[in-house]
Amino acid sequence: MKKISKSQIQKDIHEFFINIKEKTPKEIKKIKRLAMKDNIALKELRKTFCKKCLNPYNNPKIRIKNKIKIIVCNNCNYISRYKLK
Ligand SMILES: [Zn+2]
Repeated sequence: MKKISKSQIQKDIHEFFINIKEKTPKEIKKIKRLAMKDNIALKELRKTFCKKCLNPYNNPKIRIKNKIKIIVCNNCNYISRYKLK
């Protein structure tokens, strides 16, 4: 059996996120699991989809307040907050 290298998985994940807006929550769940399994940090990529309903963000409401970036999911209204560096 051919073993897929970690760098190959990383490449696959990054390619997946290029077209994130066309992905379904089911596909996002799968890629998240894949990344977790191999301890691959999604970092900035995590901000491209809602962690509650796993829908890709599509023109979400974004506000910046006190160096905190607030993203409101346009699907389930879940609010994500990220500290700006
Ligand atoms: Zn959502």
